[in-house]
Amino acid sequence: MTELRSTSPQRPDDVVVTLQAATAADVAAAADAARGAQSGWAAAPPAVRAAALGGAADAVEGAAAELTDLVVREVGKPRGEAAGEVGRAVAILRYHAQQVYDPQGAVHAPSSGGTGLSFTRRRARGVAGLITPWNFPLAIPLWKAAPALAFGNAVLLKPAPQATACALRLAELLTPHLPGGLLAVLPGGAEAGAAVVDAADVVSFTGSAAVGAGIAVAATRRGVPVQCEMGGQNPAVVLPDADLERAAGQIAAAAFGFAGQKCTATKRVVVLGRVEEFTEALVAAARALPFGDPADAATLVGPVVEESARDRVVAAATGARSAGGRVLTGGTATGDGGWYVGPTVVDGLPEDAELLREETFGPICAVVAADSVADAVRRANAVRYGLTAAVYTGDLDAALQVVDGLAAGQVKVNAPTTGVDFHLPFGGQRDSSYGAREQGKAAQDFYTSLHTVTVAPTGR
Ligand code: NAD
Repeated sequence: MTELRSTSPQRPDDVVVTLQAATAADVAAAADAARGAQSGWAAAPPAVRAAALGGAADAVEGAAAELTDLVVREVGKPRGEAAGEVGRAVAILRYHAQQVYDPQGAVHAPSSGGTGLSFTRRRARGVAGLITPWNFPLAIPLWKAAPALAFGNAVLLKPAPQATACALRLAELLTPHLPGGLLAVLPGGAEAGAAVVDAADVVSFTGSAAVGAGIAVAATRRGVPVQCEMGGQNPAVVLPDADLERAAGQIAAAAFGFAGQKCTATKRVVVLGRVEEFTEALVAAARALPFGDPADAATLVGPVVEESARDRVVAAATGARSAGGRVLTGGTATGDGGWYVGPTVVDGLPEDAELLREETFGPICAVVAADSVADAVRRANAVRYGLTAAVYTGDLDAALQVVDGLAAGQVKVNAPTTGVDFHLPFGGQRDSSYGAREQGKAAQDFYTSLHTVTVAPTGR
């Protein structure tokens, strides 16, 4: 038996929850129960599934204040963003509640001609195994679970250990609206996660690239569909005509909001022309961000999730100095007991510096100078990741040239790399993603399999 302890990043002596991690036997038992409940759920009228998800949305909305407090406490998300995530959780449930009515296939001309009929029809895959990170402890579990359920699947959710209490509370709110056994939360770490991959008929993972690569292999070996949404090293490209103050303000918020702990956070800013002016504006914007206790309504930058995460950011700043870069602000641990490290801006790094290549999941961002639009695109793409990107310019032709050249699943023009719409497909390129897109209308493809039916006339 492995004990799980989830503690508050701002007050590490505040133990949010302690429990025993789910064992492989617990996962197998939950999978059996889920499989038992799934066929009836898939066969239920769409209105029944819509009503259940609608009831779940109402329950989450009714608990909004309490859930916001829990997200702040367990993962240190600043209060404003935590409240926003709860609102988004409700919206995700309501959106997918209506997707039960979406078309399930298409009608085609039969090869025999005449009055025959050929059509495609989607079916639930069975038990969906969902493995999630801690940084969006409500939204990510729900943007997987809501479509999985809407399209007739059962769900086994293995949340990140650092977000255990949020996942358990979510399950308490959802399960009264669902048949018994249809949704189970299996707290734990790698062992429970691996057991979920072994038990599921379809696997959706969000987390780091290293873990995702292993899950993609394990699920593929079993022959079950798998999607992995992983890390990013997201660039923002700033062209010479951009409104520098506005770009710097948005980029600071995208790099350092929630202490940079978003897969979509800006990690590199590639600047063409006016580099010094932009860098000064970025440093000023970073210093102006309200930094401190995430429970305060004004805070935008709180602590990082745990001690090792804080140490990695400090080590990344030290490594940047050793590589010849300058740390212009931040880079040191601060605060009185919580895992705080301030917004950190680095410049002057050689192209092969670790900080420019790998994801550091915290409030650290590097400025890189480019000497042409093509060079800006080349530098932006010079990583193994390709999740999100942004370009700041008023020049439409240049914007289109950069958008066309960027290797990223999501590109924004004059808007931050952060921010994901639940009604649009989301996913990246290269090592950021594996498998089908998630969210929006893409979710139906992933959580169902397509069957082709041909009905020939009897000739009677
Ligand atoms: P992580 O990879 O450490 O853990 C993710 C999940 O995988 C957790 O539930 C963890 O317990 C589980 N896990 C760990 N080892 C496992 C194994 N061997 N088998 C099965 N499950 C295992 O990631 P994290 O620290 O929770 O989250 C941060 C990372 O997630 C960052 O890299 C971030 O960029 C990424 N992320 C990506 C997206 C996206 O949509 N692309 C969104 C949010 C976060």
